[in-house]
Amino acid sequence: MGLMRKTFLSLADNNSVYKFVVGNEITRQMTRRFVAGERLSEALEAMKVLNEKGIKGSLDLLGENVHSQDEARKAGAEYEEILDRIKEAGLDTNASLKLTQMGLDLGEDLCYEVTAGVLRKAREYGNFVRLDMEGSTYTQRTLDMFKRLHAEFGNTVGIVLQAYLYRTEQDVEDMIKLGARVRLCKGAYLEPAGVAYPEKKDVDGNYVKCMERLLKDGYYPGLATHDEAIIDHAKAYVAKEGIGRERFEFQMLYGIRNDLQRKLVEDGYNMRCYVPFGTQWYPYFMRRLAERPANVWFILHNSLKK
Ligand SMILES: Cc1cc2nc3c(=O)[nH]c(=O)nc-3n(C[C@H](O)[C@H](O)[C@H](O)COP(=O)(O)OP(=O)(O)OC[C@H]3O[C@@H](n4cnc5c(N)ncnc54)[C@H](O)[C@@H]3O)c2cc1C
Repeated sequence: MGLMRKTFLSLADNNSVYKFVVGNEITRQMTRRFVAGERLSEALEAMKVLNEKGIKGSLDLLGENVHSQDEARKAGAEYEEILDRIKEAGLDTNASLKLTQMGLDLGEDLCYEVTAGVLRKAREYGNFVRLDMEGSTYTQRTLDMFKRLHAEFGNTVGIVLQAYLYRTEQDVEDMIKLGARVRLCKGAYLEPAGVAYPEKKDVDGNYVKCMERLLKDGYYPGLATHDEAIIDHAKAYVAKEGIGRERFEFQMLYGIRNDLQRKLVEDGYNMRCYVPFGTQWYPYFMRRLAERPANVWFILHNSLKK
């Protein structure tokens, strides 16, 4: 793993750096490349623009690891409001949430109750909610909670698997058996070599392997990557196997590879953009810098030019 990636991911948990970054006007401006705004209205506006370009969405209210039951319930209520507002505005977007934001650290029953409230609303509206995948200490608990929710809500709820984990190949098979809707990503957290491939080439190789399995036998997989070589591989694979474009979607993050997002839509593929918003943007922002440290200079340069 690159030193810069490790450094940024460690800083994602550092309180002094947090205070500096969040309190600083330049860094606040820098986040706007990856975060649609602090308010829901700004995120809905960004979503409207994406929908006009033929890009579907997934709205994410930033936040993770809440510390009290009240915070978990408040986050659940905010997600219910997001679903109401999507419906009112007639936007083509679902929602993504993190179970630690729904109280997973505070107890499984609380987390189930809060998340089920959000899913009840999504089901009523014929919408869909994805459970994002967090660090590896949460993988098993997230999958257990997903299975419990899936038993009640079926494919109103979906899950994420991360190609950097050794266990993912098996999890892909389990999710195929369950008929679950999976988003496949490489994985964004700092993980030890005991659980995750340390070398990027192995992560990429595992991504391709899992992607092919999901494309062949999975239910509407979301291929979440900006990696052009992998995207080209997916296109060639579906063409070879006769898999229709309606059976899967590509997914990318807000503000990253907008050119490629548009090109995939032009070429007739389903494209979904993950649009985060809210005040709790710090850890999300640090993970994006970790993926591409050149972003720091790119954004700094653009902010200073203004
Ligand atoms: C829709 C979506 C949802 C996700 N959900 C989760 C989740 O639930 N859990 C989780 O752990 N991870 C999640 N991720 C993040 C993911 O795990 C990776 O960390 C991230 O997507 C970078 O990997 P990559 O596949 O784009 O490939 P990489 O090999 O990292 O990058 C390939 C190319 O993409 C471009 N690129 C990648 N990242 C950036 C960036 N930050 N800024 C600018 N260019 C960039 C560069 O051109 C780079 O060369 C999600 C990603 C997407 C797209």
